[in-house]
Amino acid sequence: MASEKEKAQQVAAVRPPAADQPTIFDKIVSKKIPATILFEDSTALAFKDISPQAPVHFLVIPKKKTGLTGSPSKKSFKRATEWSSMMARTDARQSSTSTCMCWEGASLKQPWADTEACLLAPGQSVFHVHLHVLGGKQLGWPPC
Ligand code: 5GP
Repeated sequence: MASEKEKAQQVAAVRPPAADQPTIFDKIVSKKIPATILFEDSTALAFKDISPQAPVHFLVIPKKKTGLTGSPSKKSFKRATEWSSMMARTDARQSSTSTCMCWEGASLKQPWADTEACLLAPGQSVFHVHLHVLGGKQLGWPPC
């Protein structure tokens, strides 16, 4: 587990790209590059991670990226988290194994199990805010 100082160093080492630079996720939203899309509406998109770390591993993103770290609007954040929470619960029940949600730079409580299952340090490689949903197997701790 990284100390507070190590976390601060990790965060300081990350240089976000300019806000107007499209990310790989913008290209997935605009269908310029392919992805296995699981859900799409006017504000949010969910697609399978290209490098899955668990039998179930998908990403949920707000379509509209704002700010340096791609912070979502309140509306798209709410829609994305509501939807991913519903998906994660469904998957957890089907597979009877644990599911983890990691929102970069934030923490979420799983409503069906009172355990915190998130990364606190940002450390992301794609600067378009995204929620990882992992499941389909018993996850270790920390889960991601
Ligand atoms: P991060 O490292 O920012 O937390 O997570 C970014 C995630 O995006 C990684 O898990 C990575 O595998 C995934 N990813 C990166 N590029 C692509 C891509 O082109 N397509 C898909 N589907 N996922 C990607």
